[in-house]
Amino acid sequence: MYHAEFAGLQQDNELKKWIAAVVDRSQGPPPGRGFAGVAAVNLVGHPKEGAFGLMPLAEHVKARAARWPLRLVTEDLACPTPWVRVARALVQRALAGTQTKYDKPLFMLSPPRGEAAGYPHNYPKLVRKILQAVATLPVATVLDESEWQPGPWCHVMPLWGNPMLQSDTGKGGYEFSEAGCYFRECPWQTLGELLKARTQIQQWSQQEWQQHGSTFATYIGYYGLGTQRGDALEKIEEFLNYLNKPAWILAAEAAESALVLAGQPLPDQAAVVDKLCKSIGWKVGNRSYTPENLTVKIATTLVTQPPYPKAPLHPNWLHPRSREFRDFALQIGGGLSKDKVVATLGRLWILPIDNSHKEIVWRLALDGLPTIQRLHRPTQVCGCGGAVGDAAGRQHVYFNCAAIRPIIDSIEQQLQDEWALPPQAPSLQCHHLWMAVRPTEAIHQGIWDVVCISALKAMDSTRAGLFKRQFAGAQPRTALAASVGVRACAQFWANIASFCGHNLAPRAWRGQVSTTHPFISFNTDSEKWNLNRSSGSG
Ligand SMILES: [Zn+2]
Repeated sequence: MYHAEFAGLQQDNELKKWIAAVVDRSQGPPPGRGFAGVAAVNLVGHPKEGAFGLMPLAEHVKARAARWPLRLVTEDLACPTPWVRVARALVQRALAGTQTKYDKPLFMLSPPRGEAAGYPHNYPKLVRKILQAVATLPVATVLDESEWQPGPWCHVMPLWGNPMLQSDTGKGGYEFSEAGCYFRECPWQTLGELLKARTQIQQWSQQEWQQHGSTFATYIGYYGLGTQRGDALEKIEEFLNYLNKPAWILAAEAAESALVLAGQPLPDQAAVVDKLCKSIGWKVGNRSYTPENLTVKIATTLVTQPPYPKAPLHPNWLHPRSREFRDFALQIGGGLSKDKVVATLGRLWILPIDNSHKEIVWRLALDGLPTIQRLHRPTQVCGCGGAVGDAAGRQHVYFNCAAIRPIIDSIEQQLQDEWALPPQAPSLQCHHLWMAVRPTEAIHQGIWDVVCISALKAMDSTRAGLFKRQFAGAQPRTALAASVGVRACAQFWANIASFCGHNLAPRAWRGQVSTTHPFISFNTDSEKWNLNRSSGSG
């Protein structure tokens, strides 16, 4: 993590592959064989959304990288934290030799983006790294516009590196707009200074213009303004129109007159910049975050958003994970939908059961378990001898395979009398076990969830066990399936017994589950959960 933060994220994809590999730990049976498992895109997010609960790591690293420059800018000058003092001194030293009129703290809070990010070239490497880190966040905006009613402050308002003056291209301040780029080499730093320059140019005599105009040519003429006075004034006018802040211009002019006519001083520019630094930030939902109170967590959310608004997604667009869930729901039937799949995974995820057991259900829904089909081994035969290559997919391994059928048979055996399956559908289907859909209303949903997770865990161990036996030379045949199947069934019951024995069931279930409930029942006398396995299962 720290390596990633400091070395930058050039190895972005490497990192993601590495995360996927960690999550797929020991899933592929023989070591060294590549198994893609679940696509990295499906890992990131909260389990309630059907993801693996993985933090978006690359985004998290970016967020951390963006967070510390923000602290440098916003921390009090007297901040005692040693690293802030050291880093601030380093930045100051790095900036000492540079000629820049960008107001530094503001510019750091709202750095240029896109192709403009390469500008300005004369910034030292350290500062450019900082700017790049902050640029991974979306453009900061003024959180409460009502605090900024036009007034004398408009005169000292910085023109460059000012997040209040975002260019419509979304690339940064006005210096990156078409009209503004002509002026970014000019000496005028504030709106007031620009207006003063305009007045000066208008008032100069022809002789004065010819005298001083050449100075203009060096910094604006170079950018295509020419040396005609009319051209220079036209460009200034164009830029002022482009700013689209007529009220600011009027307020700045008023402040200038008040200064000249009544000697009324202009506001302190540093104070205005300081206030501006403190009033910009980001909105997430209906909450606002300033650079000061932005946490890494919120910054991660922000980094995950596009840096500036992009075209809205097509209404039919689905996240790749949602597409997988939709196809899964269609495949297993039972009236499931992608939303129902996500809701089920979320419900299972909060059960007090080992996460690695619940993970199997999630992998099953995304077809991310290493079955022979997913491992692309067209000639490999399942240990039961009943399926080859693509036929040995999840449908076989987690439902039809002879090696795991004893589990399903045993579950069906428990469902008798008042718990019996309805006569029109007398046997269990995939969706009952894979997505914990109760086969009959009589069964308690929580208990059924435990049964399904326990069954899938036992099936998954059986799959791995079969692979191991085959790897050790065992030939796929019915006898192998039968011996493995007995153990599979025993493991299934052991999983349920372990849930009972550890008294893991939520308290709320106590009043809901009768003393005769199959699989697990609650004994009100001893106040204990008991395994309830009908003797018919042998
Ligand atoms: Zn099989």
